Amino acid sequence: MQRTIVWVVALAAACTLGARLGVHAQVVRQSPHAAPPPEHAAAGSNEPDLEPTGKGWGELKGPARQPGGGARPGGNGKVKGNGINYHNGPLILGTTNVYYIWYGDWSGNSATTILPDFARNIGGSSYYRINTTYYDAKGAHVSNSVALSPAQYNDNYSHGAALSDSAIQSVVAYAITSGGVPKDSNGVYFVLTSADVNATSGFCTSYCGWHTHATIAGTDIKYAFIGNPDRCPSACSAQAVGPNGNAGADGMVSIVAHELEESVTDPDFTGWYDRRGYENADKCAWTFGTVYQTANGASANMKLGSRDYLIQRNWVNASGGSCAQGY
Ligand SMILES: [Zn+2]
Repeated sequence: MQRTIVWVVALAAACTLGARLGVHAQVVRQSPHAAPPPEHAAAGSNEPDLEPTGKGWGELKGPARQPGGGARPGGNGKVKGNGINYHNGPLILGTTNVYYIWYGDWSGNSATTILPDFARNIGGSSYYRINTTYYDAKGAHVSNSVALSPAQYNDNYSHGAALSDSAIQSVVAYAITSGGVPKDSNGVYFVLTSADVNATSGFCTSYCGWHTHATIAGTDIKYAFIGNPDRCPSACSAQAVGPNGNAGADGMVSIVAHELEESVTDPDFTGWYDRRGYENADKCAWTFGTVYQTANGASANMKLGSRDYLIQRNWVNASGGSCAQGY
């Protein structure tokens, strides 16, 4: 326990120094894509921004995309924000609907109450309000509003226990086209895998989760993969004992928060990200700010509804920009 607390504090200090572990998506704690340049290098640069890959690091894709309507002068048609830039694409506006797709074997696992509880209470919080500092080309800001769909879908290993990226997309597509969950362009669909399930493109080695989008049944669908950190605690869990007594689920909460706020502010990879291809949550990955101890000895940094959580900070796109626990 003592080691855990020291580790959290050390990471918070690392963020202050601008030496972060994380890149786009929720990368593992020791990422091969680490060692980014200082974040504030982005603020004054006219170079094209690297594009998010969805897997946690940016790639320079050439040629630079055409500046969109309303773009201001300066590389790549981007609009400069506070240490993060806008690339003229859509955001998710209004209430964002969360859809959970439970993949594998979740029987008897308290994750099935912890994660829905979290999704019902993150909207309206000081933490989620950070996302309202992001806006689109018309000046419309993200809302501090999230709803959990009552329709949750259970997938009993339809694609086995080793999922490729395309298999994960197929899981989402089938949940929608079969009518298990509604088709919703204002939704984010989370594929939540049990600890016996791997994602073969790099779960536990490169990332703990990721988000992307695809056209499914004619609609632009935003979806995310969220692995169970019980599969690789040293890579994807912040601590051995979570605030709600389920280290895997408690770890997944922070990963869901990360992918949710990125999906809202950069749903199609044409929204908000910085010069390195880091989206808002990437810029604060694995940093938690001020923590307190819960009754079971875990560290937590916020209470949403009736539960304590340890959730990574997010990037505030205001006042020069910073990682924060609330806004
Ligand atoms: Zn990310």
